[in-house]
Amino acid sequence: MPKKSTPAALPPPSSGLSAKPPESGGTYYDAIILGGGAAGFFAAIRAAEENPGARILILEKARRPLGKVLISGGGRCNVTHACFDAAQLVGYYPRGAAALRGAFSRFQPADTVRWFESRGVKLKTEEDGRMFPVTDNALTITHCLENAAREAGVTLSTQVTALKVDTVSTPDAERAPRFAVVVRKAASTLTEELATRSLLFATGGDSASQALLAGLGHTIEHGVPSLFTFNIRDPRLEGLAGLSVPQAELRLLEADGEKSAIAPQRGPLLITHWGLSGPAALRTSAWGARWLHERNYRAGLSVNWLSPLTTEKALENLQNIRNNPTNSRKKPTAHPLFDLPARLWARLVLAAGIAENTNWADVSKAAIRALAEELTAGQYQISGKGQFKEEFVTCGGVRLDEVDFKTMQSKKIPGLFFAGEVLDIDGLTGGFNFQNAWTTGWLAGSALVGG
Ligand SMILES: Cc1cc2nc3c(=O)[nH]c(=O)nc-3n(C[C@H](O)[C@H](O)[C@H](O)COP(=O)(O)OP(=O)(O)OC[C@H]3O[C@@H](n4cnc5c(N)ncnc54)[C@H](O)[C@@H]3O)c2cc1C
Repeated sequence: MPKKSTPAALPPPSSGLSAKPPESGGTYYDAIILGGGAAGFFAAIRAAEENPGARILILEKARRPLGKVLISGGGRCNVTHACFDAAQLVGYYPRGAAALRGAFSRFQPADTVRWFESRGVKLKTEEDGRMFPVTDNALTITHCLENAAREAGVTLSTQVTALKVDTVSTPDAERAPRFAVVVRKAASTLTEELATRSLLFATGGDSASQALLAGLGHTIEHGVPSLFTFNIRDPRLEGLAGLSVPQAELRLLEADGEKSAIAPQRGPLLITHWGLSGPAALRTSAWGARWLHERNYRAGLSVNWLSPLTTEKALENLQNIRNNPTNSRKKPTAHPLFDLPARLWARLVLAAGIAENTNWADVSKAAIRALAEELTAGQYQISGKGQFKEEFVTCGGVRLDEVDFKTMQSKKIPGLFFAGEVLDIDGLTGGFNFQNAWTTGWLAGSALVGG
């Protein structure tokens, strides 16, 4: 681990936000927070409110902070999810569930709702449990966070990138710095060095920042995308973009067509111009993120359009329908069953080898079975991944067993903290990723000053 002596005094970076800028000449901060995203702001506000007068600085490399919050949830910001039981909540995190269990017992969605409400932002819950500001506008959230940071006396420096972090060997005095952070303002060739006692990485999926952490001795699980849609070119789906079913089950398949070890995922499924999307596809992509990455996003997919109906149950239903004399002269393609959209139903009937003008009475036993399988275990080929525009996260980040989840402090380096997506944690779509940022940010902020 690189060590440095105490850095020389350098002027503070330009302050864009602070109502109480640090006294002139000081480059020392009680806490520096790298990254002005959801996690960084939440941590900074908590730390400043808990420690009035503490010198807390957020460094953000972009021109404006909270960029992802602003574009989140299609511009509405899906702040959290109405799931208030910690044990249940962790089930929405393909990576990080065990570590978050205790963290959620300290700060969970009910606390998020209270936090925003106490600052004048009311949240509403949609039918599927997603929570948004009642204004349906992400600006409500960014304004709230920016105002709270300003009022608490947090200093924000934008267009400033942390390029280098060194640990500093100092006597263990109370305010002695433990880190030297080299920063550069955008469009400038000059660098500055800042000193701090506590350093929080809230840098999201930024790979250069992860390299800094690796340099300090932390292990980084390599990042791969999560929450994406599936590209599938298949005649059964062609021309059906926009059709959806309320409950499908998807299962990833190995190259030989065998079921993979990734648990099947259920939920609404949407046919798109490129393949499949909707919660069932996104959940499958999240749980299978690494598995799919290893296979270069080429894999088999089994689709049960009738979930939770099994193949045998569907077969039984179809046989009853065929054997019912009132149906004998009806054409299967023309009479959709199981509440499936008519055009999808007709496509699946044809795919089962039942011609358009066939009557139910003439459908063979083999064709009935083929249809039951087409409806409940149709096989498709994923040929790549698409983009889910409303939410996107990376799985990977700082290894969780190197972090104390009571304080979000590094187990390797005293004074080093983590919050948000920089950790190897990611959730399903629905507000879970922000909840991770709020919870870990709040915990880090609680311990940052004096930690
Ligand atoms: C389009 C989109 C929509 C989304 N919608 C939702 C949603 O509705 N609900 C939900 O729960 N989740 C959503 N997410 C996921 C959510 O936005 C992230 O999980 C969350 O923003 C992570 O917060 P963070 O603070 O950890 O990281 P980030 O928001 O990524 O913030 C990290 C910040 O650090 C800065 N930074 C990085 N390195 C440095 C450095 N060296 N020096 C200075 N600054 C640095 C970056 O510029 C960035 O601003 C969405 C994501 C996307 C991309």
